[in-house]
Amino acid sequence: MTIGSPHKVLHVAVELAPLVKLGGLGDVLGSLPKSLVRSGKVDARILLPAYPGVLENAEKYGYKFKRTGVSVSAAVNWRAWSASVLEGKVEGVTVYLLEQPELFSDPHVYPNDLNAETMLPFVFLCYAALELPKAVGWTPEIYHVHDWSTAILPLALRWHRYYRSMAEQFDVVLMLHNLAHQGLVDPAIVDGWGFVPEAFSIDGMEFYGRANLLKGAALASDSIIAVSPHYSWDIQTFDGGFGLHGVFSMLRAKLSGILNGIDYDIWSPATDKMLPAHFSSEDQAGKAVCRAKLIERCGWQDDGKPILLFIGRLVMQKGVDIMLRVLETKLGDSCRAVVIGSGAQEYEAWTEHLQRVFPQTFSCLNGFDEEFAHLAYAGSDILIMPSLFEPCGLSQIIAMSYGTVPVVRNTGGLADTVIDFDGSPDGTGFIFSDYSTFELEHAINRAIGAYWDKDRWKVVMTNAMRANFSWDQSTKAYISVYDRLKAGD
Ligand code: ADP
Repeated sequence: MTIGSPHKVLHVAVELAPLVKLGGLGDVLGSLPKSLVRSGKVDARILLPAYPGVLENAEKYGYKFKRTGVSVSAAVNWRAWSASVLEGKVEGVTVYLLEQPELFSDPHVYPNDLNAETMLPFVFLCYAALELPKAVGWTPEIYHVHDWSTAILPLALRWHRYYRSMAEQFDVVLMLHNLAHQGLVDPAIVDGWGFVPEAFSIDGMEFYGRANLLKGAALASDSIIAVSPHYSWDIQTFDGGFGLHGVFSMLRAKLSGILNGIDYDIWSPATDKMLPAHFSSEDQAGKAVCRAKLIERCGWQDDGKPILLFIGRLVMQKGVDIMLRVLETKLGDSCRAVVIGSGAQEYEAWTEHLQRVFPQTFSCLNGFDEEFAHLAYAGSDILIMPSLFEPCGLSQIIAMSYGTVPVVRNTGGLADTVIDFDGSPDGTGFIFSDYSTFELEHAINRAIGAYWDKDRWKVVMTNAMRANFSWDQSTKAYISVYDRLKAGD
């Protein structure tokens, strides 16, 4: 490596907004590499499977991909697999797409059950990433992998019979977006991956008799980055470590927490093409037009009551149970609410029930709808994010940009990004601590109380809109991590 030349970094990932997005991981891949490239200090590229819909989305958003004519091959489960490589640019970032319709056939990306068959695409993606340099004539210095879905790459460099011979050539950064999913599989499945037997040991993947991909990857990577400073501490605790607190505490010398940002080219109400009107912290008038459009889409009559919004996966992590219980008691008189998200069947059924009971004050969309999400962020007043745990969270950051004031629980990245308005004139939202309906309701009441005091509301809304979570600062922190790896620290 030459000191001073841009770092060559290949991000290997299964999501990349706007080509394939299931949550915040897609947003991060759509914005962090872009910011790294813009810094001029990193030649960041991305390797992504061409899931169904990816090429259609590329065309829809005007990104051109061409067939390179080269392919990559790797052996998994005693069979040779091959994929064609397409190359294009997304927001100035070179993206390699792996086309292998047999393996990359699920547009929902993540299987419900991890077994020999459903793990195949993830293993192949990681081996293909190691084969890619030979095929495309560009060799990264650093592989940057994301969560369990690409954790097999550092594992391969440590334990694969063939790929471990390449370990000296590369550094690996493992980014932790959500420790709730670790890639826990039956050790018998790993047999077909080409690892030496020691891979299944205490120094490798072994975890209470099962194979834990994230644990093995954490041990095998050169640097580990959690998506917020708070989260890097949380995962070293019994409550936040999901069984890996001891591992992360042992590895803390190579663990850091760097806050995610958002891309204000996309998430800015002053320029957002998906909105019926634009607004900014200086001129907030357009927000009323967005509100009117949202009210119309929900089929409501506007009586000025605050609109509460939840947007995200309907899973326990997000605090959906306490939120719906509190909403049930408030929809009759003090507010309206919009819920956008899909997930656990019981929560979807509960939201549908609320919509039947409160058609004039509650609306739900149990699906993924990017355009409606933009309108809802812009047209609502208060975002509710009562997460049980939250590695970083992007919804609260996006909501702030749109002047939708967040009510959040004091955990992970929520604690790093929101300042309580009752505790500080610079406050950007409302925070509560205990995971309980009582505390959540109290925080929502504080927000609704502030909403009716127009002067106070303007202050908190403006503070939220002015809070800046662009990638600029965090990009510098990532570059320092790459610098340290290059210097051999
Ligand atoms: P997660 O834990 O799912 O990554 P984040 O808050 O970090 O949560 O990121 C969620 C991202 O996904 C945000 O961009 C949010 O707007 C988007 N999102 C979540 N659910 C939906 C949905 N149903 N429709 C549209 N966008 C959604």
